[in-house]
Formats: sequence, C-alpha cells, structure tokens
Amino acid sequence: MKILIAEDDMTSRLVLGATLKKLGHEVTATNDGQQAWDAMDREHFPLLISDWMMPDVDGLELCRRIRAAHRSEYTYIVLLTALGGKSSYLDGMDAGADDFITKPFDEDTLVARLRVAERILALHETLRTQAMFDGLTGLLNRTAITRCLAAEMERTARDGKDLSIVLLDLDHFKQVNDVHGHAAGDAVLKEAARRMATSMRGYDQVGRYGGEEFLVVAPGCPGKDVLTLAERVRHCIGREAVDIGEEMLPVSCSLGAAVTSFDTKETADALIARADAALYRAKAGGRSRTELATATDEVAVMKSGGIKT
Ligand code: GH3
Ligand code: MG
Ligand code: MG
Ligand code: MG
Repeated sequence: MKILIAEDDMTSRLVLGATLKKLGHEVTATNDGQQAWDAMDREHFPLLISDWMMPDVDGLELCRRIRAAHRSEYTYIVLLTALGGKSSYLDGMDAGADDFITKPFDEDTLVARLRVAERILALHETLRTQAMFDGLTGLLNRTAITRCLAAEMERTARDGKDLSIVLLDLDHFKQVNDVHGHAAGDAVLKEAARRMATSMRGYDQVGRYGGEEFLVVAPGCPGKDVLTLAERVRHCIGREAVDIGEEMLPVSCSLGAAVTSFDTKETADALIARADAALYRAKAGGRSRTELATATDEVAVMKSGGIKT
C-alpha cells in the first residue's frame, strides 16, 4: 500500500518508515503537515500516518484540510500521538482522523491498525466504484461522466486545447421494448454500450447519460476530428445486427457533436445543450446520422427554453 508519513521527529520518522517498508509498503516520508499536504496534491495516498504535534500545519489541521478537500478517493488517516485521554482522541476524530497509534509504537499494534485500514479502504473503493458505474451497461453513469466533462473542461482551459463531446441516442428504441420486451431492450443497450467502448480512443470517455442516451467526452479533439470520431462510433454500433435471442435486430443511432475551445469560456451545460440541439437536428433529418453543433445553437436552445430528445 502507498503510505504517506508526516512526522517532524526524525528518529520516529525513520523508525516508522523502515518498519512500514519492511512490511512491504511503499513509503513517502515528509517532515511536517505542509509538506504532507503538498505531497497529497501531487499524488493520491490511500493511507496517511501523521504525527499530531508538528510545527505550523499540525496533525489536526492536516486532517481538517484533507476532509474539507472532499477528494473522490478516500485517505484513511492514522494519528500518531503521545497524548492520552479521551478528549484528545475525540478532537482527532472530529478533525477527520480514522484511528490512533500511541508513540512509541509497537509493531503488532501497527500491523493490526494497517489491517483495519486496508479493510475500510477496500470497502470505500467498492462503494466508490458502485457509485460511478451504470449497473446495466458497465459504463460511467451520468454523475461520473458529467464530472469527467467538468474536469476536462477545466483542463482544456489550462492547456489551451479544444474539447469535443458527442451525445448519442439510439433510434426508435422504444419500439424494441414494445415489440420484443424489456429484456431485449436491455440486451441492445448492453451491446451498444460495449460497441461504443471498443470504438473509443484510450483517452476518450463514454458514459450513460440517460435511458438510451450516451455522452462521449473527447479531450484534445478538435472540430475537424469530432465528426470522424462520431461516425466511427455510429458505424461500430450499426455495423452488425444485435443478437436478442429470438432474432438479430438491426440497431442505429443519431449523434450530436459539439466542440468548445479553451477561450470561449462556455459552461459544460451550454456545451451539452449545443450537442443536444445538433442531436435533435440529426433526429429530425431522418436519424442514423451525425450533426455538428454550430456556435448559434446555444442561442437557439436558450430561446426555445431547451430541447428534449
Ligand atoms: P428516437 O429515435 O426519437 O430517440 O425514439 P426512441 O423510441 O428511441 O425514444 P423515446 O424517448 O421515445 O424512448 C426511449 C425508450 O428507452 C423509452 C424507455 O422505456 C426506454 N428505456 C430507457 N431506459 C431503459 C432501460 O434501462 N432498459 C430498457 N429496456 N429500456 C429503457
Ligand atoms: Mg511532533
Ligand atoms: Mg432514442
Ligand atoms: Mg432519448
């Protein structure tokens, strides 16, 4: 496990670091709370073992900062303390610590605390994964893909690159349910999602945005490439009929693509609204096609009070 140590006392830091390494862990040691905080900014550490008393940013302050940051991955915090007494443990708990080890530590106690940490971290990871992925298709769910879009838009603003998105909606999907039943509809959704995922570049992300609607986020993809990307996905979904058991069902989809550049300061909602408008045009134009959003789509969407697909 990757473990971060924050401890201003050199002897204690070295002994703890050496023990953890001997137990097979990957250790990063820092001399105080501020250094630990900076290290956590650079990479994620599932476990932090922090001294309580440190100059400037002490253990409690470090705990508070970590909890206030609300990072999606959990950091389990063990506070090292020479202090005793119930109230100080409660102060540590209130600041966000998960457990305590009294200094000088005993190796068996340390191993036991690490086991608890590993169990809790595994549970956190299971819950985090379940909260991110759509149960039927296994793709990112709406919350996760929307979050991913927001993060990529921020990165676009920093890197000065373009970002493209594609909204994809299966055509006449209600008929699949109506004619062949809900289970057949589910099979089509699963297979369409699988085909979508396989047609994606490694750094593109796709998520289930609604019932039979999907959102592709393509960072660094400029306007001239987004239609190629969208058409590749469309062909991949429609190339072969889907096996629903009783028969092979042809499937098609319509797509709306939109590009935003770092200098437009467009919001994620406005970008999605433009892709939605383009998708609406693709549907109105006969389905099974891709339309690219124009810069004025946003205005049109705002005037009409939003477009539903
Ligand atoms: P269009 O080409 O205009 O998009 O028509 P459509 O029939 O695809 O669109 P519509 O919005 O009328 O119907 C979408 C259907 O998708 C209705 C809903 O019951 C179905 N659906 C949504 N989620 C699921 C799901 O998880 N499983 C199944 N089987 N059906 C779903
Ligand atoms: Mg200290
Ligand atoms: Mg549809
Ligand atoms: Mg729809």
